[in-house]
Amino acid sequence: MVDQDIFDRLLQFRPSGAPVLSVYVGVDGGPSALRTKLESLVGEVLEQAEAEPSQALRRSLLSDVARVLDLAARGGPPEGSTVGIFACHRAGLYEEVVVPRRARDRAVVDATPYLRPLLAFLDESRRYCLVVLDRMQACLYELFMGELEGATIVVTPGKPGRPVGRDPSPAHRLFRETADVADEFIHATRAELLLVGGPEETVAAFLPFVPHHLRGRVAGTFAFDPRTMGPEQARCCAEAVVDRYERAEEASLVAEILDRVTTGGLGAAGIPWCLAAVNEEAVQFLLIDEEARASGSACDACGWLGLVGATCQRCGGPLRVTQDVIEEMGAAVIGASGRVEHVQAPTPLSQHSVAAFLRFDVPHSAAQVVG
Ligand SMILES: [Zn+2]
Repeated sequence: MVDQDIFDRLLQFRPSGAPVLSVYVGVDGGPSALRTKLESLVGEVLEQAEAEPSQALRRSLLSDVARVLDLAARGGPPEGSTVGIFACHRAGLYEEVVVPRRARDRAVVDATPYLRPLLAFLDESRRYCLVVLDRMQACLYELFMGELEGATIVVTPGKPGRPVGRDPSPAHRLFRETADVADEFIHATRAELLLVGGPEETVAAFLPFVPHHLRGRVAGTFAFDPRTMGPEQARCCAEAVVDRYERAEEASLVAEILDRVTTGGLGAAGIPWCLAAVNEEAVQFLLIDEEARASGSACDACGWLGLVGATCQRCGGPLRVTQDVIEEMGAAVIGASGRVEHVQAPTPLSQHSVAAFLRFDVPHSAAQVVG
């Protein structure tokens, strides 16, 4: 679980002039493997630190590297998770964030914490209600951030005293009861979507029992044998369904926004146009192609973002060079109460890098001011 306060602190971090070290590392193979991986990740950072002319900044970065390397010895993060570490000794920043999923290992030194992998993880952190059943029993779980929580078991023949006269099959009674429990469960946990696993014919027989208002929220189904497979296998199967669902949803969002841009609706596509829209706080929903990278410039005084230049077009302040202006766009959109989606699926968004649903019109010509 990513703590909201820590996340806000990272998002609101203001550059202090000292380098911020951000490291993402996957945890597997025990402490010594983790130590080796961290050493290889921070190798270039050490070279960079040694080349730093300011003694104070060099010391700050070296101290951050030492603390990062110490992670393996401190132990703690569970196997299979990814730890994000954000450190700037001189600015008093040190945060570790554990996410229960794999992200690419990397170490980045920049003026601000490198949050893009964390943002990408968070925009996939929906709550799902997972139902795993056969004709005898159903198990309901909450699937959140890759983890299964709280099992609720429903067994046939359901609650005593329920009218069964017109519903003679025990399996049908189980399905009806399970559908009721799922409905309550979704309401209580605020799960957005439903996943169903079980023997294929059982799942097909169960689905008609799902209440009408939940049918559009069935994200997918999967084949599963509860007699021989446990919760961990259910989790893996469910994650695969979630992945397919998320990729399909991304593709449909991309199609929708590009259609909107083509037809002159409230949309923008491409880095310069979207930057102009971000600067006007016009972006409601930003779609970012996962592979896209672009350097740019940022004004730490007023938050203005651009592609090139030494002075801010808005306040005249000095601009800082940023290695990943797309990440800064994402953070700015979230800071202005917008949403961000990192698109992993191969889509036509790769030709534009980014596209945005807008709150109000920002003409394409506005793109010229960002560089
Ligand atoms: Zn400015």
